[in-house]
Amino acid sequence: QSTAVERSKETIALDRAHVFHSWSAQGTLAPIDIVAARGVTIRDGEGRAYLDFSSQLVNVNIGHQHPAVLAAIHEQTDILTTIAPSHANAARSTAARLITDRAPDGFNRVFFTNGGADANENAIRMARQYTGRPKILSAYRSYHGNTGAAVNATGDWRRIPNEFATGHVHFFTPYLLRSEFWAQSQEQECERALHHLERVILSEGPQSIAAILLETIPGTAGILTPPPGYLPGVRKLADKYGILLILDEVMAGFGRCGTWFAFEHYNVVPDLITFAKGVNSGYVPAGGVIISDPIAEYFNDRIFPGGLTYSGHPLAMAAIVGTLTAMDQEGIVDNAREIGKTALGPGLGALKDAHPTIAEVRGVGVFWAVELTEPDTTVPLAPTQLAAVKNYCQDHGLIVFAAENRIHLVPPCVVTRDEVEEALAILGAALDVLEAS
Ligand code: PLP
Repeated sequence: QSTAVERSKETIALDRAHVFHSWSAQGTLAPIDIVAARGVTIRDGEGRAYLDFSSQLVNVNIGHQHPAVLAAIHEQTDILTTIAPSHANAARSTAARLITDRAPDGFNRVFFTNGGADANENAIRMARQYTGRPKILSAYRSYHGNTGAAVNATGDWRRIPNEFATGHVHFFTPYLLRSEFWAQSQEQECERALHHLERVILSEGPQSIAAILLETIPGTAGILTPPPGYLPGVRKLADKYGILLILDEVMAGFGRCGTWFAFEHYNVVPDLITFAKGVNSGYVPAGGVIISDPIAEYFNDRIFPGGLTYSGHPLAMAAIVGTLTAMDQEGIVDNAREIGKTALGPGLGALKDAHPTIAEVRGVGVFWAVELTEPDTTVPLAPTQLAAVKNYCQDHGLIVFAAENRIHLVPPCVVTRDEVEEALAILGAALDVLEAS
Protein backbone atom coordinates (compact mmCIF):
# COMPACT_ATOMS: atom_id res chain seq x y z
CA GLN A 1 0.00 0.00 0.00
CA SER A 2 2.68 2.51 0.97
CA THR A 3 4.65 1.85 -2.25
CA ALA A 4 1.44 2.51 -4.23
CA VAL A 5 1.01 5.78 -2.34
CA GLU A 6 4.67 6.68 -2.97
CA ARG A 7 4.31 5.88 -6.68
CA SER A 8 1.26 8.11 -6.80
CA LYS A 9 3.10 10.97 -5.11
CA GLU A 10 5.92 10.58 -7.65
CA THR A 11 3.40 10.63 -10.54
CA ILE A 12 1.96 13.90 -9.26
CA ALA A 13 5.44 15.39 -8.70
CA LEU A 14 6.49 14.45 -12.26
CA ASP A 15 3.21 15.85 -13.60
CA ARG A 16 3.83 19.15 -11.83
CA ALA A 17 7.44 19.24 -13.06
CA HIS A 18 6.90 18.28 -16.71
CA VAL A 19 3.26 18.29 -17.87
CA PHE A 20 1.73 21.48 -19.24
CA HIS A 21 -2.05 21.40 -18.69
CA SER A 22 -4.96 22.76 -20.77
CA TRP A 23 -6.72 26.09 -20.07
CA SER A 24 -4.86 26.65 -16.77
CA ALA A 25 -2.34 28.78 -14.95
CA GLN A 26 0.25 26.05 -14.40
CA GLY A 27 1.22 27.14 -10.90
CA THR A 28 -2.28 26.68 -9.47
CA LEU A 29 -2.90 23.02 -10.22
CA ALA A 30 -3.36 20.06 -7.84
CA PRO A 31 -4.41 17.07 -9.96
CA ILE A 32 -5.45 13.74 -8.45
CA ASP A 33 -3.65 10.67 -9.79
CA ILE A 34 -6.17 8.28 -11.36
CA VAL A 35 -4.82 4.74 -11.56
CA ALA A 36 -7.87 2.62 -12.39
CA ALA A 37 -11.48 2.87 -13.52
CA ARG A 38 -14.45 0.65 -14.25
CA GLY A 39 -17.98 1.62 -15.25
CA VAL A 40 -18.90 4.77 -13.32
CA THR A 41 -16.14 4.41 -10.68
CA ILE A 42 -12.60 5.76 -10.85
CA ARG A 43 -9.82 5.17 -8.27
CA ASP A 44 -6.90 7.33 -7.22
CA GLY A 45 -3.38 6.27 -6.29
CA GLU A 46 -4.16 6.35 -2.58
CA GLY A 47 -6.97 3.80 -2.99
CA ARG A 48 -9.90 6.22 -2.84
CA ALA A 49 -12.93 5.51 -5.07
CA TYR A 50 -15.02 8.21 -6.75
CA LEU A 51 -18.28 8.16 -8.68
CA ASP A 52 -17.39 9.79 -11.99
CA PHE A 53 -20.33 12.12 -12.64
CA SER A 54 -18.15 14.15 -15.01
CA SER A 55 -17.56 11.30 -17.47
CA GLN A 56 -14.12 13.00 -17.52
CA LEU A 57 -14.73 15.73 -20.13
CA VAL A 58 -18.29 14.50 -20.73
CA ASN A 59 -16.95 11.90 -23.11
CA VAL A 60 -16.95 8.48 -21.38
CA ASN A 61 -20.54 7.69 -22.37
CA ILE A 62 -20.14 3.91 -22.27
CA GLY A 63 -18.38 4.00 -18.90
CA HIS A 64 -14.77 3.23 -18.10
CA GLN A 65 -12.95 0.13 -19.40
CA HIS A 66 -15.97 -1.46 -21.08
CA PRO A 67 -14.81 -5.01 -21.91
CA ALA A 68 -16.31 -5.04 -25.44
CA VAL A 69 -14.48 -1.85 -26.42
CA LEU A 70 -11.21 -3.09 -24.91
CA ALA A 71 -11.59 -6.38 -26.83
CA ALA A 72 -12.26 -4.52 -30.11
CA ILE A 73 -9.12 -2.40 -29.63
CA HIS A 74 -6.98 -5.43 -28.63
CA GLU A 75 -8.20 -7.38 -31.65
CA GLN A 76 -7.40 -4.49 -33.98
CA THR A 77 -3.85 -4.13 -32.59
CA ASP A 78 -3.14 -7.67 -33.82
CA ILE A 79 -4.63 -6.98 -37.26
CA LEU A 80 -3.37 -3.50 -38.24
CA THR A 81 -2.53 -0.53 -36.03
CA THR A 82 -2.11 2.25 -38.62
CA ILE A 83 -2.91 2.90 -42.27
CA ALA A 84 -3.12 6.05 -44.39
CA PRO A 85 -6.59 7.57 -44.92
CA SER A 86 -6.30 6.97 -48.69
CA HIS A 87 -6.56 3.18 -48.28
CA ALA A 88 -9.80 1.38 -47.48
CA ASN A 89 -9.89 -0.41 -44.16
CA ALA A 90 -12.48 -2.73 -42.64
CA ALA A 91 -12.62 -1.00 -39.26
CA ARG A 92 -13.12 2.43 -40.89
CA SER A 93 -15.73 1.20 -43.38
CA THR A 94 -17.72 -0.50 -40.61
CA ALA A 95 -17.47 2.50 -38.26
CA ALA A 96 -18.75 4.81 -41.03
CA ARG A 97 -21.67 2.47 -41.73
CA LEU A 98 -22.61 2.19 -38.05
CA ILE A 99 -22.56 5.99 -37.69
CA THR A 100 -24.58 6.71 -40.84
CA ASP A 101 -27.08 3.98 -39.83
CA ARG A 102 -27.84 6.08 -36.74
CA ALA A 103 -28.05 9.41 -38.63
CA PRO A 104 -31.23 10.68 -40.36
CA ASP A 105 -32.02 9.59 -43.94
CA GLY A 106 -29.87 11.40 -46.46
CA PHE A 107 -26.65 11.25 -44.40
CA ASN A 108 -24.43 8.62 -46.00
CA ARG A 109 -20.82 9.75 -45.61
CA VAL A 110 -18.45 10.43 -42.73
CA PHE A 111 -15.21 12.44 -42.72
CA PHE A 112 -13.16 11.27 -39.73
CA THR A 113 -11.04 13.58 -37.58
CA ASN A 114 -9.01 13.22 -34.38
CA GLY A 115 -11.55 14.96 -32.12
CA GLY A 116 -14.30 17.55 -31.86
CA ALA A 117 -12.42 20.74 -32.71
CA ASP A 118 -11.17 19.46 -36.06
CA ALA A 119 -14.66 18.06 -36.74
CA ASN A 120 -16.03 21.61 -36.50
CA GLU A 121 -13.00 23.00 -38.37
CA ASN A 122 -13.75 20.73 -41.31
CA ALA A 123 -17.53 21.19 -41.22
CA ILE A 124 -16.93 24.95 -41.45
CA ARG A 125 -14.55 24.36 -44.37
CA MET A 126 -17.13 22.20 -46.17
CA ALA A 127 -19.83 24.84 -45.65
CA ARG A 128 -17.60 27.61 -47.02
CA GLN A 129 -16.59 25.53 -50.05
CA TYR A 130 -20.15 24.37 -50.79
CA THR A 131 -21.83 27.76 -50.50
CA GLY A 132 -18.94 29.93 -51.71
CA ARG A 133 -19.74 32.24 -48.76
CA PRO A 134 -17.30 33.22 -45.99
CA LYS A 135 -19.17 33.90 -42.74
CA ILE A 136 -20.07 31.54 -39.91
CA LEU A 137 -22.71 32.58 -37.35
CA SER A 138 -22.47 30.95 -33.92
CA ALA A 139 -23.62 31.49 -30.34
CA TYR A 140 -21.92 33.56 -27.65
CA ARG A 141 -22.83 30.82 -25.21
CA SER A 142 -20.90 28.01 -26.91
CA TYR A 143 -17.71 26.01 -27.12
CA HIS A 144 -16.66 24.40 -30.40
CA GLY A 145 -13.00 23.44 -29.82
CA ASN A 146 -9.45 24.70 -29.65
CA THR A 147 -8.34 25.07 -33.30
CA GLY A 148 -8.38 28.10 -35.66
CA ALA A 149 -11.95 28.37 -36.91
CA ALA A 150 -13.45 26.26 -34.08
CA VAL A 151 -12.10 28.50 -31.32
CA ASN A 152 -13.18 31.60 -33.25
CA ALA A 153 -16.67 30.14 -33.63
CA THR A 154 -16.66 29.50 -29.87
CA GLY A 155 -18.47 32.19 -27.94
CA ASP A 156 -17.05 31.84 -24.43
CA TRP A 157 -13.93 33.45 -22.92
CA ARG A 158 -11.60 30.97 -24.61
CA ARG A 159 -12.16 32.67 -27.99
CA ILE A 160 -10.94 36.08 -26.97
CA PRO A 161 -7.14 35.47 -26.64
CA ASN A 162 -7.26 33.32 -29.81
CA GLU A 163 -9.22 35.54 -32.14
CA PHE A 164 -7.09 35.47 -35.33
CA ALA A 165 -9.50 34.00 -37.92
CA THR A 166 -11.90 36.03 -40.06
CA GLY A 167 -15.53 35.56 -40.95
CA HIS A 168 -16.98 34.77 -37.51
CA VAL A 169 -20.08 36.51 -36.15
CA HIS A 170 -21.80 35.73 -32.84
CA PHE A 171 -25.37 36.02 -31.61
CA PHE A 172 -27.42 35.30 -28.48
CA THR A 173 -29.41 32.10 -28.09
CA PRO A 174 -32.31 31.37 -25.69
CA TYR A 175 -31.56 31.29 -21.95
CA LEU A 176 -34.69 32.39 -20.10
CA LEU A 177 -33.09 32.54 -16.64
CA ARG A 178 -30.63 35.18 -17.93
CA SER A 179 -32.67 36.44 -20.88
CA GLU A 180 -30.96 38.88 -23.24
CA PHE A 181 -34.42 39.70 -24.57
CA TRP A 182 -36.33 40.71 -21.39
CA ALA A 183 -38.55 37.69 -21.97
CA GLN A 184 -40.99 36.41 -19.34
CA SER A 185 -41.76 33.00 -20.82
CA GLN A 186 -40.06 30.33 -22.94
CA GLU A 187 -42.37 31.22 -25.85
CA GLN A 188 -41.32 34.87 -25.69
CA GLU A 189 -37.65 33.95 -25.30
CA CYS A 190 -37.86 31.67 -28.34
CA GLU A 191 -39.68 34.19 -30.52
CA ARG A 192 -37.36 37.06 -29.59
CA ALA A 193 -34.20 34.96 -29.99
CA LEU A 194 -35.34 34.03 -33.51
CA HIS A 195 -36.13 37.67 -34.28
CA HIS A 196 -32.65 38.64 -33.05
CA LEU A 197 -31.04 35.94 -35.22
CA GLU A 198 -32.90 37.14 -38.31
CA ARG A 199 -31.77 40.72 -37.59
CA VAL A 200 -28.16 39.49 -37.34
CA ILE A 201 -28.49 37.58 -40.64
CA LEU A 202 -29.94 40.63 -42.42
CA SER A 203 -27.37 42.99 -40.90
CA GLU A 204 -24.45 40.74 -41.89
CA GLY A 205 -25.85 40.15 -45.39
CA PRO A 206 -27.38 36.72 -46.04
CA GLN A 207 -25.29 36.33 -49.22
CA SER A 208 -22.12 36.36 -47.12
CA ILE A 209 -23.20 33.67 -44.62
CA ALA A 210 -22.14 30.06 -45.23
CA ALA A 211 -23.53 28.45 -42.09
CA ILE A 212 -25.11 28.78 -38.69
CA LEU A 213 -23.16 26.56 -36.28
CA LEU A 214 -24.87 25.60 -33.01
CA GLU A 215 -24.44 23.03 -30.29
CA THR A 216 -27.84 21.30 -30.33
CA ILE A 217 -27.84 21.68 -26.53
CA PRO A 218 -25.02 24.04 -25.51
CA GLY A 219 -23.00 21.91 -23.07
CA THR A 220 -20.15 23.66 -21.28
CA ALA A 221 -22.19 26.88 -21.54
CA GLY A 222 -24.74 25.38 -19.14
CA ILE A 223 -26.72 22.52 -20.73
CA LEU A 224 -29.05 25.17 -22.14
CA THR A 225 -31.90 22.99 -23.42
CA PRO A 226 -33.52 25.19 -26.08
CA PRO A 227 -37.26 25.92 -26.08
CA PRO A 228 -39.07 23.47 -28.39
CA GLY A 229 -39.58 25.90 -31.30
CA TYR A 230 -36.07 27.35 -31.40
CA LEU A 231 -34.10 24.90 -33.54
CA PRO A 232 -36.94 24.41 -36.06
CA GLY A 233 -37.09 28.22 -36.23
CA VAL A 234 -33.33 28.41 -36.90
CA ARG A 235 -33.72 25.75 -39.61
CA LYS A 236 -36.47 27.85 -41.22
CA LEU A 237 -34.29 30.99 -41.22
CA ALA A 238 -31.35 29.02 -42.65
CA ASP A 239 -33.56 27.72 -45.48
CA LYS A 240 -35.06 31.16 -46.12
CA TYR A 241 -31.59 32.66 -46.72
CA GLY A 242 -29.79 29.68 -48.34
CA ILE A 243 -27.59 29.19 -45.27
CA LEU A 244 -26.42 25.75 -44.05
CA LEU A 245 -27.12 24.51 -40.53
CA ILE A 246 -24.28 22.70 -38.73
CA LEU A 247 -25.24 21.02 -35.44
CA ASP A 248 -22.36 20.30 -33.08
CA GLU A 249 -23.18 17.01 -31.34
CA VAL A 250 -19.69 16.56 -29.92
CA MET A 251 -20.87 16.65 -26.28
CA ALA A 252 -24.63 16.06 -26.64
CA GLY A 253 -24.47 13.17 -29.11
CA PHE A 254 -24.07 9.39 -28.97
CA GLY A 255 -26.32 8.56 -26.03
CA ARG A 256 -25.72 11.51 -23.73
CA CYS A 257 -29.30 12.82 -24.20
CA GLY A 258 -30.89 9.38 -24.19
CA THR A 259 -30.93 9.36 -28.01
CA TRP A 260 -28.21 8.82 -30.61
CA PHE A 261 -28.35 12.53 -31.48
CA ALA A 262 -29.66 15.36 -29.32
CA PHE A 263 -31.49 16.92 -32.29
CA GLU A 264 -33.89 13.95 -32.25
CA HIS A 265 -35.57 15.78 -29.32
CA TYR A 266 -36.19 18.91 -31.37
CA ASN A 267 -37.73 17.93 -34.71
CA VAL A 268 -34.87 19.38 -36.74
CA VAL A 269 -32.37 17.97 -39.24
CA PRO A 270 -29.14 19.87 -39.99
CA ASP A 271 -26.97 19.81 -43.12
CA LEU A 272 -23.79 18.74 -41.33
CA ILE A 273 -23.41 16.94 -37.99
CA THR A 274 -20.17 17.07 -36.02
CA PHE A 275 -19.34 14.43 -33.41
CA ALA A 276 -16.49 13.08 -31.22
CA LYS A 277 -16.43 12.16 -27.49
CA GLY A 278 -19.23 9.57 -27.00
CA VAL A 279 -18.79 7.94 -30.41
CA ASN A 280 -16.13 5.74 -28.79
CA SER A 281 -15.95 7.33 -25.34
CA GLY A 282 -12.42 8.56 -26.06
CA TYR A 283 -10.79 5.15 -25.61
CA VAL A 284 -8.83 6.19 -28.73
CA PRO A 285 -9.29 9.81 -29.90
CA ALA A 286 -11.77 10.25 -32.78
CA GLY A 287 -14.32 12.65 -34.19
CA GLY A 288 -15.83 13.55 -37.51
CA VAL A 289 -18.43 15.16 -39.74
CA ILE A 290 -21.54 13.33 -40.95
CA ILE A 291 -22.28 14.85 -44.35
CA SER A 292 -25.71 15.17 -45.97
CA ASP A 293 -25.96 13.86 -49.52
CA PRO A 294 -26.04 17.16 -51.47
CA ILE A 295 -22.86 18.37 -49.76
CA ALA A 296 -21.14 14.99 -50.11
CA GLU A 297 -22.07 14.90 -53.81
CA TYR A 298 -20.69 18.41 -54.35
CA PHE A 299 -17.25 16.97 -53.62
CA ASN A 300 -17.65 14.05 -56.07
CA ASP A 301 -15.92 16.01 -58.80
CA ARG A 302 -14.28 18.75 -56.74
CA ILE A 303 -11.33 18.25 -54.45
CA PHE A 304 -12.13 18.64 -50.75
CA PRO A 305 -9.23 20.77 -49.49
CA GLY A 306 -8.78 19.13 -46.09
CA GLY A 307 -7.27 16.02 -44.49
CA LEU A 308 -5.41 14.50 -41.55
CA THR A 309 -2.74 11.79 -41.32
CA TYR A 310 -4.86 9.93 -38.78
CA SER A 311 -8.30 10.40 -40.40
CA GLY A 312 -10.06 7.13 -39.62
CA HIS A 313 -7.21 5.61 -37.57
CA PRO A 314 -7.84 1.84 -37.29
CA LEU A 315 -7.60 1.70 -33.49
CA ALA A 316 -10.04 4.60 -33.11
CA MET A 317 -12.35 3.02 -35.68
CA ALA A 318 -12.26 -0.37 -33.93
CA ALA A 319 -13.15 1.43 -30.70
CA ILE A 320 -16.14 3.04 -32.49
CA VAL A 321 -17.33 -0.33 -33.80
CA GLY A 322 -16.94 -1.91 -30.34
CA THR A 323 -18.68 1.01 -28.63
CA LEU A 324 -21.69 1.40 -30.93
CA THR A 325 -22.26 -2.36 -31.07
CA ALA A 326 -22.16 -2.72 -27.27
CA MET A 327 -24.37 0.35 -26.78
CA ASP A 328 -26.99 -1.29 -28.97
CA GLN A 329 -26.70 -4.78 -27.51
CA GLU A 330 -26.84 -3.59 -23.91
CA GLY A 331 -29.56 -0.94 -24.33
CA ILE A 332 -27.18 1.75 -23.05
CA VAL A 333 -28.88 4.68 -24.80
CA ASP A 334 -32.25 3.53 -23.44
CA ASN A 335 -30.72 3.37 -19.96
CA ALA A 336 -29.54 6.99 -20.30
CA ARG A 337 -33.05 8.07 -21.30
CA GLU A 338 -34.76 6.16 -18.48
CA ILE A 339 -32.28 7.33 -15.84
CA GLY A 340 -32.90 10.92 -16.94
CA LYS A 341 -36.67 10.54 -16.76
CA THR A 342 -37.00 8.48 -13.62
CA ALA A 343 -33.92 9.13 -11.44
CA LEU A 344 -31.61 12.01 -12.33
CA GLY A 345 -34.32 14.48 -13.45
CA PRO A 346 -36.75 13.85 -10.55
CA GLY A 347 -33.87 13.56 -8.04
CA LEU A 348 -32.48 16.93 -9.06
CA GLY A 349 -36.00 18.40 -8.99
CA ALA A 350 -36.31 17.26 -5.37
CA LEU A 351 -32.90 18.77 -4.54
CA LYS A 352 -34.06 22.07 -6.06
CA ASP A 353 -37.17 22.05 -3.86
CA ALA A 354 -34.99 21.53 -0.78
CA HIS A 355 -32.22 24.02 -1.61
CA PRO A 356 -32.77 27.78 -2.10
CA THR A 357 -29.29 28.04 -3.74
CA ILE A 358 -30.50 26.06 -6.77
CA ALA A 359 -32.06 28.54 -9.19
CA GLU A 360 -32.62 26.10 -12.01
CA VAL A 361 -32.08 22.48 -13.02
CA ARG A 362 -31.84 21.73 -16.75
CA GLY A 363 -31.21 18.64 -18.77
CA VAL A 364 -32.23 15.40 -20.41
CA GLY A 365 -30.86 11.85 -20.37
CA VAL A 366 -27.55 11.91 -18.47
CA PHE A 367 -26.84 15.56 -19.35
CA TRP A 368 -27.84 17.84 -16.43
CA ALA A 369 -26.80 21.21 -15.00
CA VAL A 370 -27.59 22.66 -11.59
CA GLU A 371 -27.40 26.46 -11.58
CA LEU A 372 -26.30 27.77 -8.16
CA THR A 373 -27.10 31.28 -6.96
CA GLU A 374 -27.37 33.34 -3.79
CA PRO A 375 -30.46 31.91 -1.99
CA ASP A 376 -33.76 32.65 -3.76
CA THR A 377 -32.18 35.01 -6.32
CA THR A 378 -30.61 34.73 -9.75
CA VAL A 379 -27.26 36.21 -8.57
CA PRO A 380 -24.62 33.62 -9.54
CA LEU A 381 -22.77 31.90 -6.71
CA ALA A 382 -19.19 33.23 -6.37
CA PRO A 383 -16.41 31.08 -7.91
CA THR A 384 -14.91 30.35 -4.46
CA GLN A 385 -18.27 29.04 -3.21
CA LEU A 386 -18.71 26.89 -6.32
CA ALA A 387 -15.20 25.52 -5.79
CA ALA A 388 -16.16 24.67 -2.19
CA VAL A 389 -19.18 22.67 -3.41
CA LYS A 390 -17.07 20.87 -6.00
CA ASN A 391 -14.32 20.11 -3.47
CA TYR A 392 -16.81 18.84 -0.87
CA CYS A 393 -18.19 16.45 -3.48
CA GLN A 394 -14.70 15.27 -4.44
CA ASP A 395 -13.68 14.80 -0.79
CA HIS A 396 -16.79 12.65 -0.32
CA GLY A 397 -16.27 10.48 -3.40
CA LEU A 398 -18.10 12.32 -6.19
CA ILE A 399 -16.45 13.91 -9.22
CA VAL A 400 -18.61 16.53 -10.97
CA PHE A 401 -18.03 18.87 -13.91
CA ALA A 402 -18.04 22.48 -12.66
CA ALA A 403 -18.29 25.61 -14.83
CA GLU A 404 -18.95 29.22 -13.76
CA ASN A 405 -21.78 28.98 -11.17
CA ARG A 406 -22.91 25.52 -12.22
CA ILE A 407 -22.44 21.91 -11.25
CA HIS A 408 -22.96 19.60 -14.21
CA LEU A 409 -24.05 16.03 -13.46
CA VAL A 410 -23.06 14.11 -16.55
CA PRO A 411 -22.36 10.47 -15.61
CA PRO A 412 -21.73 7.67 -18.11
CA CYS A 413 -24.88 6.41 -19.86
CA VAL A 414 -24.50 3.09 -17.95
CA VAL A 415 -25.09 4.78 -14.57
CA THR A 416 -27.47 2.95 -12.24
CA ARG A 417 -30.30 4.24 -10.06
CA ASP A 418 -28.27 3.43 -6.91
CA GLU A 419 -25.28 5.40 -8.19
CA VAL A 420 -27.54 8.37 -8.94
CA GLU A 421 -29.03 8.19 -5.45
CA GLU A 422 -25.56 8.06 -3.87
CA ALA A 423 -24.31 11.00 -5.96
CA LEU A 424 -27.34 13.19 -5.23
CA ALA A 425 -27.00 12.50 -1.49
CA ILE A 426 -23.39 13.80 -1.63
CA LEU A 427 -24.40 16.88 -3.65
CA GLY A 428 -27.29 17.54 -1.22
CA ALA A 429 -24.89 17.36 1.74
CA ALA A 430 -22.50 19.76 -0.06
CA LEU A 431 -25.38 22.24 -0.47
CA ASP A 432 -26.38 21.83 3.19
CA VAL A 433 -22.85 22.84 4.17
CA LEU A 434 -22.89 25.76 1.71
CA GLU A 435 -26.25 27.03 2.96
CA ALA A 436 -25.24 26.71 6.62
CA SER A 437 -22.07 28.80 6.13
N1 PLP B 1 -17.71 20.91 -29.44
C1 PLP B 1 -18.26 20.75 -28.22
C2 PLP B 1 -19.73 20.97 -28.04
C3 PLP B 1 -17.47 20.38 -27.13
O1 PLP B 1 -18.02 20.25 -25.91
C4 PLP B 1 -16.08 20.16 -27.32
C5 PLP B 1 -15.21 19.79 -26.19
O2 PLP B 1 -15.56 19.84 -25.04
C6 PLP B 1 -15.56 20.33 -28.62
C7 PLP B 1 -16.39 20.69 -29.64
C8 PLP B 1 -14.11 20.11 -28.86
O3 PLP B 1 -13.79 18.76 -28.85
P1 PLP B 1 -12.28 18.27 -28.67
O4 PLP B 1 -11.83 18.70 -27.32
O5 PLP B 1 -12.36 16.78 -28.86
O6 PLP B 1 -11.48 18.91 -29.76
